[in-house]
Amino acid sequence: MMNKNQIYVIYGNTPKTMIKEILTKARIEEEIDKSALIGIKPNLVVAKPSTSGATTTPDLVAGVIEYLQSKGYQNIIILEGSWVGDRTFRAFSVCGYEQLSKLYNVPLVDLQRDKYTEYDAGGVRINVCNKAMEVDYLINMPVLKGHCQTSMTCALKNMKGCIPDSEKRKFHTMGLHKPIAYLNRVVKSNLIIVDGLMGDLTFEEGGTPVQMNRVFVGKDPVLIDAYAAELMGFNLNEIPYIQMAERIGVGSADVSKAEIIELNKDCDVRKITRSHKVERLSKYIEEKDACSACYGSLIHALERLDERGLLARLRGKICIGQGYKGQQGEGIGIGVCTKGFSKGIPGCPPKAKDIVEFIEKNI
Ligand code: SF4
Repeated sequence: MMNKNQIYVIYGNTPKTMIKEILTKARIEEEIDKSALIGIKPNLVVAKPSTSGATTTPDLVAGVIEYLQSKGYQNIIILEGSWVGDRTFRAFSVCGYEQLSKLYNVPLVDLQRDKYTEYDAGGVRINVCNKAMEVDYLINMPVLKGHCQTSMTCALKNMKGCIPDSEKRKFHTMGLHKPIAYLNRVVKSNLIIVDGLMGDLTFEEGGTPVQMNRVFVGKDPVLIDAYAAELMGFNLNEIPYIQMAERIGVGSADVSKAEIIELNKDCDVRKITRSHKVERLSKYIEEKDACSACYGSLIHALERLDERGLLARLRGKICIGQGYKGQQGEGIGIGVCTKGFSKGIPGCPPKAKDIVEFIEKNI
């Protein structure tokens, strides 16, 4: 069975088989009662398909359902409440969840239409939708993506879909960070499955998707978010709700003590989705057969450097890709493939945070 300090990572672009492989290793069935009501909470913040970078890939959810049903679980629901600017029923339709529901006979629960109850989260009072509190085992399935107000969104913030619209508005007036941290004292994720296949670079509503080609799974939402922050090139102090959640006992933000278990290596040559922003950042890159996960890390790192006003100081292009294996070179190279470079950054793939820190020191 999986420990709280473990994170399983798998690379690729075949979500169904990838998640089944992780769940088989994690053996989640050993901790779920056969009669349990299992709630799957994707991120369907807006009615846009997952290729936009905004929402959870339906095939990933399909893989989870197939795994659970193969182990004899029949009491499964998918629950979500989109943001106040959209309607969940539209998102269920546009994002492919109506089809999932019919195919697997799994009901969809629109939390925007649910009743709610007020809870004391330890000094902060929060209204939470009733159905979210009824489930016995909650599978939190966020997307690894940026956010215009909180820098990034992943496991902790995905729980915001479990509160009524009136409470979502209140969260914004409270500055988001504190209520997000406290909400996770009330709505507890039993398992977190992060869709890191194609998340957005900067906005939760999509439009600038970056292929990161990975799924990762854990049991501690704070640890998952701390790890996600590193993948996107952030320092923890840039996302206050993660450390707040740690301080109030939701979990641990210490990635150095985590056991990261990679089940494979990425070997999928990049298929970067063109958007104005990604196009602009890719001008700083010289690429030869780069893997998607590696290229995605570099794009996130360049975005962080751009935010800090450092991109203009780069001299020469950054080299990345398997085509550089065995080659010597001057300048900055990304990952083990460029270890012959004078400034090669280790890792396969490296995290965006490591790329940012290296480049900050070397320009
Ligand atoms: S270091 Fe090379 S092999 Fe490893 S992920 Fe990057 S491009 Fe792929």
